[in-house]
Amino acid sequence: MESLNHLNSVNDFNEAKQVIPGGVNSPVRAFKSVGGTPPFIANGRGAYLIDEDGNRYIDFVQSWGPLIFGHCDKDIEEAVIESVKKGLSFGAPTTLETALAKEVISIVEEVEKIRFVSSGTEATMSAIRLARAFSGREDIIKFEGCYHGHSDSLLVSAGSGMATFGNPSSPGVPQDFTQHTLVAQYNDLASVESCITLSQKQGKGVACVIVEPIAGNMGLVPSEVEFLEGLRMLCDKHGILLILDEVMSGFRASLCGSQSFYKVRGDLVTFGKVIGGGMPVGAFGGRAEIMDLLSPKGAVYQAGTLSGNPVAMSAGLVSLRKLKEDSKIYERLEGLALKLTQGLKSLCAEFQIPLQTCVRGSMFGFFFNDKKVRNFQDALKSNTEMFARFHQGMLNKGVYFAASQFETGFICAAMNEELIEGVLERAREVLLEIHTYGK
Ligand SMILES: *Cc1c(COP(=O)(O)O)cnc(C)c1O
Repeated sequence: MESLNHLNSVNDFNEAKQVIPGGVNSPVRAFKSVGGTPPFIANGRGAYLIDEDGNRYIDFVQSWGPLIFGHCDKDIEEAVIESVKKGLSFGAPTTLETALAKEVISIVEEVEKIRFVSSGTEATMSAIRLARAFSGREDIIKFEGCYHGHSDSLLVSAGSGMATFGNPSSPGVPQDFTQHTLVAQYNDLASVESCITLSQKQGKGVACVIVEPIAGNMGLVPSEVEFLEGLRMLCDKHGILLILDEVMSGFRASLCGSQSFYKVRGDLVTFGKVIGGGMPVGAFGGRAEIMDLLSPKGAVYQAGTLSGNPVAMSAGLVSLRKLKEDSKIYERLEGLALKLTQGLKSLCAEFQIPLQTCVRGSMFGFFFNDKKVRNFQDALKSNTEMFARFHQGMLNKGVYFAASQFETGFICAAMNEELIEGVLERAREVLLEIHTYGK
């Protein structure tokens, strides 16, 4: 396979590794699971990334979701520049925060009040603190394969067998910090019921269940309707708060996130990614009676020096307003996602490579797997070696997919049918080269 010139990126990566652990500030960027050197990015433009060697890639990562309008969207760029000229940060209230809060409240039904933070990690961490305070209980339930950021009590892997208190999934997280986290199986209500029973017997009662209604961090694995509805019913029955983590799916799967796919409403909802239009913004919101427990109105402490910073709020505000104005955008992006995944699927069928695909609005996923993926254990059965070869082959042809089988892909508004057709042509060439692998 002929290779693009990556000389500058190789040098940049080596230099970075001297001063930054693994050369990156977030692990997946290092390409560890697909091999090779990550391109160091010089700039982005619309649907494209340009690396330090001048190679151009069609970008299906879009900063892991935030850039629904692609790189350097003119409106967002202008709003940010105007805001920068007025000052970067004040540590004092601005009307921009109220404006963005009102936009979110107008879009997402169950959000009556909202607070802004600077990352998805902070949003989920704070929502859980709030849920514990509201309910007076300590245990939480999360699902295997769902990711809610890197805070200690959420870095938990399932114990052996179902319904146990979790174990730390990272060194440095004390067992004490995860002893209140129960891990259930995604799309499996019985496992949730077992966790609730266990907590009632041995624990301190379940404060909340946190779930990605459309899971995007084990590849793209949506909740089944009966599962999410059942979860809502179980929570109501036991007085447990339901936290919908829509950091990825919010304003991405549809304008109102998972809500156009399910009738289920969370007690609290967390946001990130698209809500900041490419700037560091996270948020959590929900029923006023819960949100009003937050300091300074209530006693639950939560704060941030740069929370609600005006530049970030400006980027988020323009993004949400543009999304609201363009009523056809999700339909159009979904059409492109379907064209891509259906195209990949029929190409793989030609080469007798099993492939599972999934689309939710502008989010897409594909697994080299011969069975439908419903949970993390299913996802793990995917052929990651095949994925790595496909990823490498596509990268060499100027197509930048997420560097892991267990991530979601993103369509941006700067893409069109012709671009997808070009990607499929290149995919055919790559599949032709790699299809004999593993047979
Ligand atoms: C990305 C993500 C997070 C973490 O957000 P950060 O801004 O990276 O801290 C949390 N939950 C979900 C569902 C995510 O996709």
